[in-house]
Amino acid sequence: MLDIQKIRADFPILDEKINGKDLVYFDNAATTQKPLPVLNALANYYGHYNANIHRGIHHLAEKATSAFEASRKTIQKFLNARYTEEIIFTYGTTDGINLVAQTYGRAFLKEGDEIIISAMEHHSNIVPWQMLCEQNGCVLKVIPVNDDGELILEAYEKLLSGKTKFVSVVHVSNALGTINPVKYIIQKAHEVGAKVLIDGAQATSHLTIDVQDLDTDFYVFSAHKLYGPTGMGALYGKKELLEAMPPYRGGGEMIKEVTFEKTTYNELPYKFEAGTPNIADVIAVKTAIEYLDELGKENVAAYENELLAYATEQLLKIEGLKIIGQAKDKVSVISFVIEGIHPQDVGVILDQQGIAVRTGHHCTQPLMKRFGIPGTSRASFAVYNTKEEIDKLVLGIEKVKKMVL
Ligand SMILES: *Cc1c(COP(=O)(O)O)cnc(C)c1O
Repeated sequence: MLDIQKIRADFPILDEKINGKDLVYFDNAATTQKPLPVLNALANYYGHYNANIHRGIHHLAEKATSAFEASRKTIQKFLNARYTEEIIFTYGTTDGINLVAQTYGRAFLKEGDEIIISAMEHHSNIVPWQMLCEQNGCVLKVIPVNDDGELILEAYEKLLSGKTKFVSVVHVSNALGTINPVKYIIQKAHEVGAKVLIDGAQATSHLTIDVQDLDTDFYVFSAHKLYGPTGMGALYGKKELLEAMPPYRGGGEMIKEVTFEKTTYNELPYKFEAGTPNIADVIAVKTAIEYLDELGKENVAAYENELLAYATEQLLKIEGLKIIGQAKDKVSVISFVIEGIHPQDVGVILDQQGIAVRTGHHCTQPLMKRFGIPGTSRASFAVYNTKEEIDKLVLGIEKVKKMVL
């Protein structure tokens, strides 16, 4: 059992007052808040051992390098990757997908090859593939979504063929909360010889990830949705694929030897880490993962599911409110629309009451189009949220209705 009040005390931002009201933070799918140990890890690095990594032999450089590399080990364990060098530090999910599209995609996909994504992708798992298609003449195919917000797997299987060379789908939808059956999707893609990338941006804070069990070729996530800092994430890739891929950005750290005639590249993982990385943030993500591990992923998931069930039940009592995304397998994300009220108005009036939700298209414009709506209001719950806060949301929405209708 988790002591939620004790957990809340770890997150100083939860004491903020917004418009004179206690902050109710329900925008966790956009970014989670950071616990004190993570804030301290950042301050400790900058205050006590700030130095550039890998290049120095002085004490601080060695200390920073070893903390930096320790984080790679932690992420390896977190994803259950086989090798440490399969973990590439990135600036986040978006960066990781672009890396794969511009290295694996440009090197190994040819004109007429097909790439499958889904109708519930975040723009960051659509646009990099469209850019690749413009560059090399690949063709994009889209797995449709049913009315409950689940992928239509029969349609996916029909899309698969010998032409399919890459499948890139989201593990957990940020707009609907749907947990996709990615293990099955990966297995089916492999049967036709395609490689697979899974966008884990929303999955890592709610689910236990095992890249070996999934047998995925690539997996990407962002630290900031996992109680860690912004501007930092990781790409997991199978070693033999990463080795075969050309480098992404050129510069320091990613080289072995540079001459004007020919440059040779560094080994994994450094081949993909040009330039000075987000050292502090990389170091702090280790602390974020350890924080979550200490709470216990299963405990966190069980508690969040309790919040999801409670919120779903309470919200559905509100007349005119409809939940978009009623998949059987969901994380604690609730997107909703209210008859006759624009999501923007919901967001503004809830904010006046100190309640932070997200409104709009959630970087999933094609998905909104699929449901025939301009956007939704989205409440997404993290481990520090409470049922009392959900009660405030319900009262808040009743107030919105009184004011607008
Ligand atoms: C947030 C999110 C992204 C993008 O993550 P960044 O940290 O902005 O790069 C991609 N996919 C999903 C499902 C997301 O929720």
